[in-house]
Amino acid sequence: MYIFKEIEALRAFLQPRRVYPASIGFVPTMGALHQGHLSLIRQSKRENSITVCSIYVNPTQFNNATDLEKYPRTLEADVSLLEAEDCDVLFAPDNAEMYRTPSTLRFDFEHLDKILEGKFRPGHFSGVALVVSKLFNIVQPTCAYFGQKDYQQFLIISRLVEELQFDIKLDCFPTVREESGLALSSRNKRLTDTGKQKALILIDALKEARRLLLRGESWQSVKDQVIHRLQASGSVRLEYLELANRANLMPIENVTPENLSNAILLIAAYVEEVRLIDNLFVVE
Ligand code: AMP
Repeated sequence: MYIFKEIEALRAFLQPRRVYPASIGFVPTMGALHQGHLSLIRQSKRENSITVCSIYVNPTQFNNATDLEKYPRTLEADVSLLEAEDCDVLFAPDNAEMYRTPSTLRFDFEHLDKILEGKFRPGHFSGVALVVSKLFNIVQPTCAYFGQKDYQQFLIISRLVEELQFDIKLDCFPTVREESGLALSSRNKRLTDTGKQKALILIDALKEARRLLLRGESWQSVKDQVIHRLQASGSVRLEYLELANRANLMPIENVTPENLSNAILLIAAYVEEVRLIDNLFVVE
């Protein structure tokens, strides 16, 4: 695997390889890689002649200094995992390289970056859009791969690509989970075994909400019951549990069979001071 820390070196490597029918698949990550990331690498490997993975913990998307500081960084292990998948290129820049000039750009996605994650992490999606724009501009991939676990992020990036007319195909793949159901996340590395056990309540809550909705209960009643259960458990500090349209994340107030078929349930909660998110389509 070729490893680049500098933009110019990566560009010089990719430029002569952009000859038709070559295609470049790109998997942007923040490292501390797990099977969720690796499923995206495998997908990219299947569909492209060159796969580029980036590992960069982007400071402008963190609105909480402690979260940034405590974000797991395991570059050596990540390199081994990527080599085992036969990933072609790793781009792992440092902050000085990615922000040679401090950025003044700010992004606004109207309601899409004000709700859910955006409401609890102000400025987060502006930072995401900024770094993804930079990475797309540097790598200029044919196709970029994302996980459903960060569903709102995927919609934001889709808007970004549409509005800035990036010539990049985007794909979103299902959340990879532990056998227990816990969504894989780099932040899980900060949980104790007990914390991991407690964190199962997120997926349990989503599944319970889905079950009740499909039984015909109103969203208000479902939300009340599930939130009550979450609070009674004492295991988590809930930030949100919402039901939304999966195309635009507009909240669904009145449930009908039709809007349920396009609905997504989303949750964010703290377990042992670690912020976790998960989501589930009501109808797969
Ligand atoms: P991150 O390193 O957390 O920024 O994630 C990098 C990419 O991996 C994003 O597109 C995430 O949505 C995706 N990802 C993270 N966790 C999972 C998972 N459990 N299953 C599938 N994709 C994931």
